[in-house]
Amino acid sequence: MSGVLVILEQRSGTWNRMSFEAVAAAQQLAEKTNLPLTLAAPAGKDFSADGFEAHGRAPSAAYLVEHELLEPYTSDAYVIALEQLIKKLGPAYVLFPHTYQVRDFAPALATRFKQVLISDVIAIHDGPVFVRQLLQGKLNADYRQTASGPCFISIQAGSFRAETESGTTVTPETFTPELTPAQIRNKPGERFRESGQTVDLTAAPVIVSVGRGIGEQDNLPLVEELAQALGAELAASRPICDNGWLPMERQVGSSGQTVSPKLYLAVGISGAIQHLVGMKGSKAVIAINKDENAPIFEVADYGVAGDLFEIVPELTKAIKAAKG
Ligand SMILES: Cc1cc2nc3c(=O)[nH]c(=O)nc-3n(C[C@H](O)[C@H](O)[C@H](O)COP(=O)(O)OP(=O)(O)OC[C@H]3O[C@@H](n4cnc5c(N)ncnc54)[C@H](O)[C@@H]3O)c2cc1C
Repeated sequence: MSGVLVILEQRSGTWNRMSFEAVAAAQQLAEKTNLPLTLAAPAGKDFSADGFEAHGRAPSAAYLVEHELLEPYTSDAYVIALEQLIKKLGPAYVLFPHTYQVRDFAPALATRFKQVLISDVIAIHDGPVFVRQLLQGKLNADYRQTASGPCFISIQAGSFRAETESGTTVTPETFTPELTPAQIRNKPGERFRESGQTVDLTAAPVIVSVGRGIGEQDNLPLVEELAQALGAELAASRPICDNGWLPMERQVGSSGQTVSPKLYLAVGISGAIQHLVGMKGSKAVIAINKDENAPIFEVADYGVAGDLFEIVPELTKAIKAAKG
């Protein structure tokens, strides 16, 4: 068994950004274990798509796993195809971004190898030891593989920074698994993001997040307008969702979504630990809070200590003016 294999996620030629974070984690693991790094993209169209080269990761090999039965996505097809790829490559570690799709198929894939999936890993230490959070982020637990066979790991959004550029481009090989329609028992339904009811905040590059400082539901249009002006997704702290002011799928935090946007704008959010664990991977954090001692300012790159009801309308106006 040798090598670190990363399974990336690409849909219709567009990368899920969490794939790059999984590659960053895999690079770290490859360095610690002195093993080569290999990339694979099931149903992938092209490795140079959507800026992958700009995020070059110095892999030693890459595979586009191609078969007409891999689209639309089904867990059966992914499990069968990736089982064949893993048997061919014999990696010691198989890493995934912890996306909704990965949650669906990766545990079954691990089971094919009599392994478990060590899910939602936030750090990798020497050993290697994989760290994941328990009890809503109150405890960190260390996991080490003791069984033989490939070790399956999914990487929590925002835990690894995907920004080191190696300048290396990768020429992928094609791997065509053996798949027949009779092997696929699942019938794909509507995609999660396309349901109109739900939102995948993990892929949003800009998020405006609102907290209890907004006071009441009737004030929400203030932040909705700001989000719209910025082209951002709207998110919230837990009390906002608990109150039913925004749907639960917009909650960020230990019992909500974990996000890693380029910009996270926290409006009237105090910065409780349960909220911070869900957004600490953001590249830049701006906080608006009238309490200059609010804990959110400890993780903020830019802080505005003031009343959101004065600041947000001015900010929205300025953004609209700047955008013409
Ligand atoms: C098991 C468990 C799981 C949890 N999971 C989550 C989770 O997933 N996500 C989450 O967010 N929380 C979670 N919580 C709740 C968490 O502990 C906090 O209670 C919550 O994050 C607080 O939300 P908030 O910051 O919006 O509200 P508050 O803590 O009430 O903060 C409101 C902030 O707004 C500021 N403010 C008030 N008025 C204004 C104004 N006019 N202008 C500017 N600023 C103003 C205040 O100074 C204050 O800092 C969890 C708690 C538990 C126990």
